[in-house]
Amino acid sequence: MKVLIIAHCGHRRWIDSPVPMNGEQRNLEKNKPCPECLTFAGFVRAAHVMNVIYPEWRKGQALFNTLYEIRPDLANEVQGTYFDPFRVDDRIGPFLTFVMVRW
Ligand SMILES: [Zn+2]
Repeated sequence: MKVLIIAHCGHRRWIDSPVPMNGEQRNLEKNKPCPECLTFAGFVRAAHVMNVIYPEWRKGQALFNTLYEIRPDLANEVQGTYFDPFRVDDRIGPFLTFVMVRW
């Protein structure tokens, strides 16, 4: 059967499933990065959406967490460096430049 998944970023996709999916399985699918988000612009957009879903996150936190979902390789490069915006929003500028260049 076809199941419509609406990802947290707002993108929609149909997936094949042999049986009806429960809420937990649907949530796993919702959390998967979708192809539309696998661009730099898509990543920035998805981070904004995460900020709406989790308003308690700072912007830098949302950007880092979203990068970790979509490009864990880049997130690992950034983590703990001067460009890591997880705890310091002032680093968002250098962070975005770094990620854009390395994408
Ligand atoms: Zn998406």
